[in-house]
Amino acid sequence: MSATATRVLVLNSGSSSVKYQLLDMTDGARLAVGLVERIGEETSRLAHTPLATGGERRETEGPIADHTAALKAVAKELAADGLGLDSPELAAIGHRVVHGGLKFTEPTVIDDAVLKEIERLIPVAPLHNPANITGIRTAQALRPDLPQVAVFDTAFHTTMPEYAARYAIDVATADAHRIRRYGFHGTSHAYVSRKTAELLGKAPEEVNVIVLHLGNGASASAVRGGRCVDTSMGLTPLEGLVMGTRSGDIDPAVTFHLKRVAGMDEDEVDTLLNKKSGLIGLCGDNDMREIRRRIDEGDERAQLAFDIYIHRLKKYIGAYSAVLGRVDAVAFTAGVGENAAPVREAAIAGLEEMGMAVDASLNALRSGEPRLISPDYARVAVAVVPTDEELEIAQQTYALVNA
Ligand code: AMP
Repeated sequence: MSATATRVLVLNSGSSSVKYQLLDMTDGARLAVGLVERIGEETSRLAHTPLATGGERRETEGPIADHTAALKAVAKELAADGLGLDSPELAAIGHRVVHGGLKFTEPTVIDDAVLKEIERLIPVAPLHNPANITGIRTAQALRPDLPQVAVFDTAFHTTMPEYAARYAIDVATADAHRIRRYGFHGTSHAYVSRKTAELLGKAPEEVNVIVLHLGNGASASAVRGGRCVDTSMGLTPLEGLVMGTRSGDIDPAVTFHLKRVAGMDEDEVDTLLNKKSGLIGLCGDNDMREIRRRIDEGDERAQLAFDIYIHRLKKYIGAYSAVLGRVDAVAFTAGVGENAAPVREAAIAGLEEMGMAVDASLNALRSGEPRLISPDYARVAVAVVPTDEELEIAQQTYALVNA
C-alpha cells in the first residue's frame, strides 16, 4: 500500500442495491456517498453526492443489469470528481458481509479461502451473503491489486457465551445444520456501545450497555465491558424485536399451524414473517413517522402497533438488565432510535425502579451528536447515540491493512 493511500471505499451490497461511501481515514471525512437501487430492473437509479468537491447530488435513471454494471457506474461517478477507483490514494475496499458464522470473529482480508467460507455460509444467510459475494467479486475484478476486507455483521456477537448462543434443541441436529444464535447489526452494536462508553467518559471495559438498534430492522444487545453477551436476532434477522416488516419473536408452532391450517408453503410463511409482519403487518405502515402521525389523528390500529412494538422493547430492556446485572447505559440508535422521541419515552416509561428515566426536554432536542436524555438523578444513563456503520467498517478495514 502506498504511504499516501488514506482512502477507503465501503461497499454494502444488497440483493438489488449497492450503498457506498468513500472516506478519507486521516479524519474520517466522507468524500462521496451514494446508492444504486433496483439493480436488474428497467428503472435502476444511481444517486451520487460528491461531498469532497461540495458538488450537488446527481441522480441517473436507466437500466443497470447487474452488480458489475452497478459498480462500474459508481466508479465512473467517482472518477468524474477525481476520486476514481484507480487512484493511488485508495488504500482498500471494505465490504459489509452479513454472515460470518463462527469462523470470522474479526475483519478479514479476503482471499479465495475466505470467499469460499462466505459461500459456505449461504444456507444460513440465503438473502444476504450471495449479494455480498457478488459485490466482492466485482470489486476484485475492478481493482485486483487492492486489499479487499470483509467486515462481518455477526463478528461482534461471537463473544456471546454458549448458553446465550445455543437454542434449547437437540444438539446433534443444531450442530449438523449450524443452528444457533449468531446475531446481526454487529458493526452498529460495536460502534454504539463504544461511543456510549466515550459519552460517559469511561473505557468500554468499564461499562455495561444495552444497545437498542431500532431501524427498519431492529435488534437489541447486552454488552458487558465492551463484549457482547446476548443479542436479540438469532440464526437469521427474524428473531427478537418487532421490526418494520418482521414479526420478531413468535411461537415457532405458528409456522406449522400456517402450513397445516392455512395451507401455506415455506416461502409464503417466510414472506409473511419477514416482509408482511411487524409494524406493516399490524397497521399497514412501517415508517414510524407515519405511525405517529396516525396516532395523533386517533388511529387505533396504529396505536396498537406502537404499543406492541414498545411492549417488546421493554421486555428486552428487562431481560438484558437481568443478564447484565448492572446496567450503566441504555443507548438508542438507528432511524427510529435516533429520531423518534415518543419511542424512547414510551420504552423507558415506568422503569424508574430500574434506575431508568427520560427527561422530556432533553429527549425532544434534535441533534446528530451522541447525547444523554436521562435526568441527572437517574442511576442508568439513557442516551441517543447515532450509529455509523460505514465509518466503523472503514476504520476496521484501514486498521487491518495498516497492521
Ligand atoms: P434505518 O433502517 O436505520 O435507516 O431506519 C429507517 C426507519 O427509521 C424508517 O423506516 C422510519 O421508521 C424511521 N425514521 C426515520 N426518520 C424518522 C423520524 N424523523 N421519526 C421517526 N422515525 C423515523
